[in-house]
Amino acid sequence: YPVESIRNFSIIAHVDHGKSTLADRLLEITGTIAKTHHNKQVLDKLQVERERGITVKAQSASLFYSHEGANYLLNLIDTPGHVDFSYEVSRSLSACQGVLLVVDANEGIQAQTVANFYLAFEAQLAIIPVINKIDLKNADPERVEKQIEKLFDIPIDECVRISAKQGTNVEKVLQKVIEKIPPLKALVFDSTFDHYRGVIANIALFGGEIQKGHKVVSAHTKKRYEVNEVGILTPNEQPTHKLYAGQVGYLIAGMKEVTEAQIGDTLFLYKQPVEPLPGFKSAKPMVFAGMYPVDQTEYNNLKSALERLTLNDSSVTVHRDSSLALGAGWRLGFLGLLHMEVFNQRLEQEYNMSVIVTAPTVPYKAVLSSAKLIKEYRKAEITIINPAQFPDKLSVSEYLEPTVLGTIVTPQEYIGKILCDRRAVQKDMLYIDEHRVILKYLFPLNEIVVDFYDALKSLSSGYASFDYEDAGYQAADLIKMDILLNGNPVEELATIIHNDKAYATGKFLCERLKDAIPRQLFEIAIQAAIGKKIIARETLKAYRKNVVAKCYGGDITRRMKLLKRQAEGKKLMRKIGNVEVPRDAFIRVLKRQ
Ligand code: GDP
Ligand code: MG
Repeated sequence: YPVESIRNFSIIAHVDHGKSTLADRLLEITGTIAKTHHNKQVLDKLQVERERGITVKAQSASLFYSHEGANYLLNLIDTPGHVDFSYEVSRSLSACQGVLLVVDANEGIQAQTVANFYLAFEAQLAIIPVINKIDLKNADPERVEKQIEKLFDIPIDECVRISAKQGTNVEKVLQKVIEKIPPLKALVFDSTFDHYRGVIANIALFGGEIQKGHKVVSAHTKKRYEVNEVGILTPNEQPTHKLYAGQVGYLIAGMKEVTEAQIGDTLFLYKQPVEPLPGFKSAKPMVFAGMYPVDQTEYNNLKSALERLTLNDSSVTVHRDSSLALGAGWRLGFLGLLHMEVFNQRLEQEYNMSVIVTAPTVPYKAVLSSAKLIKEYRKAEITIINPAQFPDKLSVSEYLEPTVLGTIVTPQEYIGKILCDRRAVQKDMLYIDEHRVILKYLFPLNEIVVDFYDALKSLSSGYASFDYEDAGYQAADLIKMDILLNGNPVEELATIIHNDKAYATGKFLCERLKDAIPRQLFEIAIQAAIGKKIIARETLKAYRKNVVAKCYGGDITRRMKLLKRQAEGKKLMRKIGNVEVPRDAFIRVLKRQ
């Protein structure tokens, strides 16, 4: 394929607006996959993606398309829509010259439509607006086209109206891709790890050609590798003899860790160095949590599972950590709470691991005033990603918390409800049509990290959407709060919070915990404490009746079943002092919903 007949493009959109479905249709039309009724989000290969119905990792596929006597090679990259995974979007865009911006004809422009539009706009890519789901009864493509014109300054007649589900007008989309998206440009834009073959780097070839036996050098690490295999993605890896300039494909070259195939890195032929392509912003963790084996004998198994899983997800950071109550473990950094949940789910499903996860915390900072601590840390400003390391007020001149600039798109009637109690400062407001507004707010990151997205969805009956970007640090009055069960601290629930919110949060956590812990044979005091001072308390009454005695009606099989269930339940419990707590109770307790 000559360079002029190659197009590299991404599909971007707000979550659920139909990217993966459109990708299915494009794969079918071009004969890349057979046309059956079973093709549903074919590019979502991970089990968690299929179960949750969301895309987590960007996936690429090469399509071959003939139009008016010419043959084209179209490299398609499907991207995730949820805010936690937006780094995957910007990573994908660096390998593209154009995008399909998909907008739901019923929901219209949403927060991630705006965020993704600007990512593509700033990268100077060709943008083709695609209005999807025109088959829906409530579809209003005209209204959506007006929003697009008003907000993005794209003429109405450049929009394509389609139904990805039914295949209506999808062929037109391909023609637009060929007409509007310019050819070429390239670099390493993703990498995954395969147990047998090592790192598989997804690359876009900028110039020349590459094949097995070539020696390549990483501009970033200066390490040298011999190429073992090259190929294209259809969407599974299919080896080819060579890759040529303009192609998107993969390369295997004996790299042992994904960090060796850095996103945005440039590879060049040994002894033929080139200028590296412009750099890339790496993913930055926003949420940290401790992770420990349920049983310390599982430590080594968990260690190797973590190593293998992080090889496939270089956006997770890992540090060794240990705790008096939980033993040896790790402190992991994630892009957001969904990212953390997805990671845990993958640990369970793909590696059969069950773990104890502590309350997520954002990265706070402290400016130290104590000479002793400054000496110990060898610096005056430290980052705190573990509540156990929160320095005392007396040894600190100032605490700092991370902030984000959030974009909310919502029907106007929900504005009041949404922001209650989040310490938000309004920065901007713009009407996109008679009913909908875009609002910009500065938020402390900890106010939105755990449950804001879910709360927003439920308060607005699903009509509001949200996206955010990093906005630096601000001074904050912070304290550390502990939760005690009969006087024993629950390490999982130690949190750093804003002083003004201590009483309300303490009370709330105690109440929620009271509901989440099953009654036991003795009374349990549930307390919130700041240092030695108790600021909230709930009491869980003792449990009197015997579950077996009550249900046992002489039926022996029933009795066995109950005992078995009780034993299984015990495995999912954690003991704090003499109190048994279901392991999943803590994360449920932390969500305000
Ligand atoms: P993504 O999150 O952007 O990848 O969205 P998906 O492709 O996973 O689609 C989200 C949901 O919208 C799925 O239930 C699809 O079946 C549905 N959907 C996608 N395209 C259409 C369409 O053209 N019409 C209708 N009615 N539903 C669609
Ligand atoms: Mg998808």
